[in-house]
Amino acid sequence: MERSEGGRLAPGLWVVATPIGNLGDLGRRAVETLAAADAVVCEDSRVTGMLLHRLGIERPLLVYNDHSAPRLRPELLRRLREGQALALVSDAGTPTISDPGYRLVREALDAGVTVRAVPGPCAPIAALSIAGLPTDRFLFAGFLPPRRAARRRELADLAGIRATLVLLESGARLAALLADAAELLGEREAVIAREITKLHEELRRGRLAELAAAVAAAPPPKGEIVVLIGPPARSPAEALAPAALDAALLEAAARLPPGRAAREVAAATGRPADELFRRLQELRRGATARVR
Ligand code: SAM
Repeated sequence: MERSEGGRLAPGLWVVATPIGNLGDLGRRAVETLAAADAVVCEDSRVTGMLLHRLGIERPLLVYNDHSAPRLRPELLRRLREGQALALVSDAGTPTISDPGYRLVREALDAGVTVRAVPGPCAPIAALSIAGLPTDRFLFAGFLPPRRAARRRELADLAGIRATLVLLESGARLAALLADAAELLGEREAVIAREITKLHEELRRGRLAELAAAVAAAPPPKGEIVVLIGPPARSPAEALAPAALDAALLEAAARLPPGRAAREVAAATGRPADELFRRLQELRRGATARVR
């Protein structure tokens, strides 16, 4: 691990991910960083105190949440400028991702403090990695507003985005979110990832409208949930004929290296970039097969 002379943890802000359910997911570097930090900056001292206790680590805890942040941030920045090593954690997962810490990180960077990541669990990324939806472009939108009108406005904004949408939601509001999404985003694939890495881990896949109906018909699901919604289907105008696709690829390849040409046409047409890259190579070799 990165240590300064004398074996201490190097000064700076260490942003440390912690498990989202299964303690076995805590990496060795995370444990070493927590054990060696001058203090651990956490959202809730009971949650982090319990984690450190289970690891046999005793470090001072400083509670940094939406309530205490404005008061505590200057004190944390002072400690960092003085050369302390502070570890930032949240209750679970990666700090700053729908969790406190963004302004602390930003102000630490602005103050010339070294900020390092100790990466690890992150519920939206874990859900995306197992959802079976396209991962080449995704948009993490966190929790949408709980009020219906504001939520629907946000969904309408997201409707035109050609990417898998990754949202967080509580069991109590899941049915309302899915109903609005089915109405405003149209026919799409969706996945509900619940209790990832925990005993009752569950993945439900289906069309958005089907999932919305199924969730509405049952009691609200318990536990923690990530909702993923696949990108919109391509409009007929964008579904280029093979010859037009070849022409677009060759035109882009005349200006750009092959990888960038394939990515540019992929972004414009919704076709997978790797498929287009292979087709470009075929075209360059003079093959006649068409991308289907
Ligand atoms: N920073 C955290 C991370 O990196 O995972 C996310 C914090 S956000 C406040 C907490 C939300 O993430 C939960 O309400 C739930 O929507 C989702 N979440 C957390 N743990 C989860 C799990 N094990 N399975 C599914 N969703 C989870």
